[in-house]
Amino acid sequence: MRKIIFLLLAVAYYSLSSAALDISYKLGMSKPNSHYFEVEMNVSGFTDTSMRVKMPVWAPGSYLVREFSKNINTVTATDEKGKTLEVKKISKNTWEINTTNAKSVNIRYDVYAFELSVRTSFLDDSHGYLNGTSVFMYVDGHQDVKGKLSITPYSTFKKISTSLKQEGNNVYSFTNYDELVDCPIEIGNQETFQFEAGGVNHTVAMYGEGNYDIPTLQKDMARIVEAETKAMGENPNKDYLFIIHNVTDPSGGLEHKSSTTLEVNRWTYQGDDYMGFLSLVAHEYFHLWNVKRLRPKALGPFNYDEENYTDLLWVMEGFTSYYDELFLRRAGYYNEDEYLNKIIGTINYVENQPGNQVQCVAHSSFDAWIKAYRPTENSSNTTISYYSKGQILAALLDLYIIQKFNAEKCIDDFMRRLYKDFYLKNDVGFTEAEFQATLEDFLGEDMDWFFTKYVYGTETPDYKKFFDYVGLTFYNSDDSVKPFLGVRASGSGRLIISGITAGSAAEEQGLSVNDEIIAINGYRVDQNDFDAFVKTLDPGDEFEVLISRDNVLKTYTLKMGGKSSKKYIFKPNFNDENRKRFDYWLRVDIAHH
Ligand SMILES: [Zn+2]
Repeated sequence: MRKIIFLLLAVAYYSLSSAALDISYKLGMSKPNSHYFEVEMNVSGFTDTSMRVKMPVWAPGSYLVREFSKNINTVTATDEKGKTLEVKKISKNTWEINTTNAKSVNIRYDVYAFELSVRTSFLDDSHGYLNGTSVFMYVDGHQDVKGKLSITPYSTFKKISTSLKQEGNNVYSFTNYDELVDCPIEIGNQETFQFEAGGVNHTVAMYGEGNYDIPTLQKDMARIVEAETKAMGENPNKDYLFIIHNVTDPSGGLEHKSSTTLEVNRWTYQGDDYMGFLSLVAHEYFHLWNVKRLRPKALGPFNYDEENYTDLLWVMEGFTSYYDELFLRRAGYYNEDEYLNKIIGTINYVENQPGNQVQCVAHSSFDAWIKAYRPTENSSNTTISYYSKGQILAALLDLYIIQKFNAEKCIDDFMRRLYKDFYLKNDVGFTEAEFQATLEDFLGEDMDWFFTKYVYGTETPDYKKFFDYVGLTFYNSDDSVKPFLGVRASGSGRLIISGITAGSAAEEQGLSVNDEIIAINGYRVDQNDFDAFVKTLDPGDEFEVLISRDNVLKTYTLKMGGKSSKKYIFKPNFNDENRKRFDYWLRVDIAHH
């Protein structure tokens, strides 16, 4: 009896759920130089008298509310007989359609797409690029519905590159909305080539000319994929797509589960810049594990309607930043010194940033939406990057693990553990507490000290202790007090103050951002004069500065300040024990040929 009632309830619930809904999208681009994508969305199989469609406010991986609905002018809807249905806008990104008596609904809108970055969409007569969250709406409450997308390319566009599953000529399928918008689409006449690595077929789609050499890229990108697959123990994709935009002003990369978009300077493929490119490849590729699969609870399934908060971006972006350089070492691109210079450079950057004493890295993660992605003239005084600080904490944890397990385990083992416990078992994200608990279980000890001091606190890490494990003596090579005014000022015409360091002489004695510096000691100065003059001063020296603030002239007498900045370096101090750990830490594990 009980069982029968349960079954009946289950059936009733099933018919009310979204399982019967069917969604298909059509994408057109008939007038590419108007920069509008034409979108048609056909929805059938629903019974409600109204339907809400929504445009996301953000793109996963890029933690800023971008209000993609700002690019939509009008939304119209018709039923299966072509009769116009009433459409009402009820919030900044929600349209409500009256669906009384309608069996299916055809929704039409155009999207203005003229922002070429990895996180937005773009169309002109050279190509179309879509990041789905800025083009495709979803039916509210039905993001789990599968469907099809058919694309009509502009007449001169001959190629479509996307990791969506192809079902026919220019027809693709998706299993839910998350997948649809996690597969960016490049449409145009891009050059494509393939390489196989880590048991995965990789396609590279190149938009725009550049100084790249295909055989070199095939070899180098494959080495990075091999190093990463080895670290994580398995590569979950069968196919993977790199969309690469070769442009003048690049915006970096954005990660997806089975693809990535990289936007780089078109001349990046030679010399020192090329290492920067390979490190970007290593970074975005590693995200297919770290953040796209192994992830905090807030980061998938996504809420496209508002900010998705997590304290853990220092793990998602920081660990990935640590690994992007480490993989270049493991794949043989950096020698030991080059790698150590990268690490010490990041430490010096973080430890000399005033905001590092103000904002802990957990809050830097949580507030990415209003701080990291919305920098102001005061940001360096009050914030620290979860990329850089997270990279350092990843390095310290790696060294701690290596020491603890006597160079038989490293951070890879912990990442594989997280991947297994959360992604492979249940495909779920972890909470902040679950992350710490997994680390503690892995290490077999309480790690509160680490989280309290370094993640939720701003205490300077005990670098010396961590680097001693691998035979590197860590110390500040220069703690002398140097003259320091604390003003950043620039301008070819007027010399305008763009930044003031917190606690500096400039702040304490009256200068402010936006002040125009006109004269020093009665003489007009330009940027060169000003920079040269400041260099001649010692702490305590007085001078007069004439400024204009909102066109009111003021004279201040300033006294030059002083500051001891940190310049950390490593000195090798090897013995058998720590040299073994060092060699394991910076091992090269992809043989050169
Ligand atoms: Zn990243």
